[in-house]
Amino acid sequence: PKAKQSQNNVAFYDLDFHSSLQRRLDVEQRLGVALDENLLQVFLQPKVDLLSNQTIGYEALLRWQDPILGSVSPIEFIKIAEEMSLAIQVDRYVLKTVFQTIRRSIDQDIRLLPIAVNITSCHFGDAALIDYIFTLSNKLDVPLELLDLEVTESVLLEMSPQVEKNLQWLRQSGIKISIDDFGTGYSSLSYIRKLAVDTLKIDKSFIDEITDETGQKLVAAVIAIAQAVNLDVIAEGVETKQQLDILSKLGCKKGQGYYFARPKFIDDVLF
Ligand code: C2E
Ligand code: MG
Ligand code: MG
Ligand code: MG
Repeated sequence: PKAKQSQNNVAFYDLDFHSSLQRRLDVEQRLGVALDENLLQVFLQPKVDLLSNQTIGYEALLRWQDPILGSVSPIEFIKIAEEMSLAIQVDRYVLKTVFQTIRRSIDQDIRLLPIAVNITSCHFGDAALIDYIFTLSNKLDVPLELLDLEVTESVLLEMSPQVEKNLQWLRQSGIKISIDDFGTGYSSLSYIRKLAVDTLKIDKSFIDEITDETGQKLVAAVIAIAQAVNLDVIAEGVETKQQLDILSKLGCKKGQGYYFARPKFIDDVLF
């Protein structure tokens, strides 16, 4: 019976392996099509001032409703895009869509707030990133103050000369930079002193645990770290009034999450 069991396990494993490989190939193949045929949509989620409840900016988040695969989460397809060297193309698609939409809103006299675009870490150290952003901004005559960028802390681990150069240029042009998912990386805290960024985004996993005593102390510690090095903080994934109240008590001034608003199609938010 033992041998049979392990045979079954092997069969199961193969089946799993086969279907996950097939899924991957499907996503890879369809992602190329999606980029060519503009099947990806940009959604916006507001960033909110916790005291006044006012929207202070937005984060752009991709949504992909594929006619064959159905809806595919960015958690799945961004990882695959990175492995396929499609990440730069995906990031550029979002940057371009955001700039074009900002242009249309300026033309219609709509008051605008900064929109933050997520940049994959491999792209952040790319020499062409700045050029792409500056060219878009010139061509469409959109002020760079309306663009922010988010990048995970993994990019700052190496801090290559190109990453440093990009950071410097971007910030000099009025683009604010946030460290996304702060606290989930494996980086040492020492890099934070030299960090030329504007904001730390406290990862949702910390906010999820904020109602427990230790969880609350951890969030307080992250806020203290940010204050120590003069960085702004924003809480990600705020879902309840209780979480909001604790964040306010701890001195966190900004938040983002379903409690305030879910991401919505960019045109429905701005027009
Ligand atoms: P992220 O940049 O940390 O974005 C936050 C994620 O949390 C988003 O998931 C957002 O929809 C979700 N979220 C916001 N508030 C809440 C909440 O209150 N509760 C819960 N449960 N979730 C909340 P999403 O859109 O699925 O994106 C997942 C990740 O995929 C993003 O994490 C980002 O790393 C990546 N991503 C999404 N769009 C893009 C993009 O345009 N470019 C790049 N490079 N990455 C993207
Ligand atoms: Mg983000
Ligand atoms: Mg995040
Ligand atoms: Mg995240």
